[in-house]
Amino acid sequence: MANNGFTTTIVHSDRRASVEHGAIHKPMHPSSEYAFADSRELAAVFQGKAGFTYARQGTPTTAALEDKITVMEGGTGTVSFATGMAALAATFLTLLKAGDHLISSQHIFGNTNSLLGTLSDLGVQVTLVDATDARNVEAAVRPETKMVFTETLANPGTQVADLEAIGRYCASRKLVYVVDNTLTSPLLCQGVKVGASLVVNSLSKHIGGHGNALGGAVTNTGLYDWSGYANIAEPYRKGNPVSWGLTQIKKKGLRDMGGTLSAEAAHRLAVGAETLALRMDKICSNALALAQALSRHPKVAKVHYPGLPTHAQHERAAALFGKRYGGLMGIELVPEIDVFDFLNRLKVLALATHLGDNRTLVLPMAHTIYYEMGPERRAQMGISDNFLRVSIGIEDIEDLIGDFEQALA
Ligand SMILES: *Cc1c(COP(=O)(O)O)cnc(C)c1O
Repeated sequence: MANNGFTTTIVHSDRRASVEHGAIHKPMHPSSEYAFADSRELAAVFQGKAGFTYARQGTPTTAALEDKITVMEGGTGTVSFATGMAALAATFLTLLKAGDHLISSQHIFGNTNSLLGTLSDLGVQVTLVDATDARNVEAAVRPETKMVFTETLANPGTQVADLEAIGRYCASRKLVYVVDNTLTSPLLCQGVKVGASLVVNSLSKHIGGHGNALGGAVTNTGLYDWSGYANIAEPYRKGNPVSWGLTQIKKKGLRDMGGTLSAEAAHRLAVGAETLALRMDKICSNALALAQALSRHPKVAKVHYPGLPTHAQHERAAALFGKRYGGLMGIELVPEIDVFDFLNRLKVLALATHLGDNRTLVLPMAHTIYYEMGPERRAQMGISDNFLRVSIGIEDIEDLIGDFEQALA
């Protein structure tokens, strides 16, 4: 390089030097492309050898985050995406074809519901069932059924799916079982323990935790044998059949849809993940204390929180999630209260959408996320005008209870 010109020397200098230096954090790799000293090595990586070529298919920074998530989920591999929705879209669109049948829980994130509408426009048959009872899944199965999808803990109603029984049933029928673990996080629930084939996490929520980066991930539990799954393309039917599904999601999902996680976001999410257990323990204890206090308040009509003994799946949640019940609750204020006046009196809580953040966030559902669906559909879903979704943060609990009390007074 010594005899090269000014610009030639600069543009090639980084890749010639070691970049590790014993740094405590993995270095961030913003490089779009990866160059090779040996042309045969370049070809080998294109043909399946581990390595990096073009950042749309992943970088050392996303790979480092993926390794962390694999460990957290007790899985065998992970692929990251730019958002949780990108992870879900890549999973459904690369594994399902027109004519296939997907059974999904009806208690799901609104945007996932929208994605299922897109799938059905593309010819995938979709049936929504109440997944709090595995028998509803069994009753919906048809010869074309390929996949069952549910969230662990639903937003905003906090229904807890019949995760273990659905897992046993899917195993007996060789159905792909996809579990969205976003609201529980791998600290409260590992998909591999309930028989999931694939686990989706929105990293934007609890795993990142700081409200400063979006991301999503799909983790392979290693439980599903893909050799009998018709929709795996020929190039990915190689090596251990338990990894074929994730390989197809990674190859086709990142290539065809391009929802790649950036190195900077991956780095922030990886730093956030370090404190998941500390934040989640505090969030869960805060949420339980707040739910108990509000359920006794005369101006609160109902609190939906799995930690309360009155919750329909309280026992199941206790058994599945290790007596921690997550950070999300639904609160219905008595009809006499004007919900907007109440929200405007809050001093600590932030009026914001999003969840799984360090900060406690509150949102009136009927007027925001569920506004487009109209009053009839909202009534069917049990979403009254005074229904608030609250995502609990890590603040001091007296301040959270105090803020509700002063705003309700
Ligand atoms: C937020 C969320 C998603 C989507 O994640 P984004 O990162 O916001 O795209 C998917 N599933 C659940 C349960 C969520 O709460």
